[in-house]
Amino acid sequence: MGIKMELNSLTVEQTKEMLIYVGEQVMESRPLLTEVDSAIGDGDHGIGMHVGFSNAINKLTAGTYTDINSIFKEIGKAMINNMGGASGVIFGTMFMGGVKKLESADTINLEILSTIFENGLAGVKERGKANLGDKTMIDALEPAVVSLKSSLNQKLDLHEALIKAEESAAQGVENSKNYIAKFGRAKTLGDRAIGYQDAGATTVWIIFKSMRKWVGKAENNNNE
Ligand code: ADP
Ligand code: MG
Repeated sequence: MGIKMELNSLTVEQTKEMLIYVGEQVMESRPLLTEVDSAIGDGDHGIGMHVGFSNAINKLTAGTYTDINSIFKEIGKAMINNMGGASGVIFGTMFMGGVKKLESADTINLEILSTIFENGLAGVKERGKANLGDKTMIDALEPAVVSLKSSLNQKLDLHEALIKAEESAAQGVENSKNYIAKFGRAKTLGDRAIGYQDAGATTVWIIFKSMRKWVGKAENNNNE
């Protein structure tokens, strides 16, 4: 009854569960991601993310982890090793780069989550040389990171912060429609890419949405 049990700090096991859920949600979104990438790309983004997360989930399910760092590293490695294409390296770098400089942590809270995605974004930018407005996954990732940091400053709880980050990512996906692509196959389309959202940005939005859903559900389970 009544009292909301906030979940502001996830254990290693909860982090693993959350990221498995994220992977399952991205895998379920394969049709959407295929459709989005087919409009202005080569249509392989859905299958690529499916392969990447499917391998990551297999590893995570079988693995035992003592810190959250190794969980993010495992996911990134699975993507880089199995996906191929631009997005294997890009999304792999987001996960691996996120924890590269992070001290070993056995819980994840808003501060750590925000740091991970901030470092992941920096890694992606360094690796792929794209910036906001180039019609890439950065169009969703950067606003989500800015939102997490601002929520941290406002001392919001983890669930509220994820709701806002998801909204920012969704707005970023919307904004990506207005941009001309500077990377990938959509680059050759010029103006004709306008009106279509970026596939990788769509995946970033699904990742944040899924984290928000997982934390929301976990808080409700605490109430039962
Ligand atoms: P490919 O481009 O090899 O077909 P995917 O279709 O799986 O690979 O992924 C395409 C997505 O990868 C794009 O929608 C974009 O979000 C992302 N992407 C491509 N190049 C870059 C880059 N240099 N920086 C950031 N993201 C990129
Ligand atoms: Mg593609």
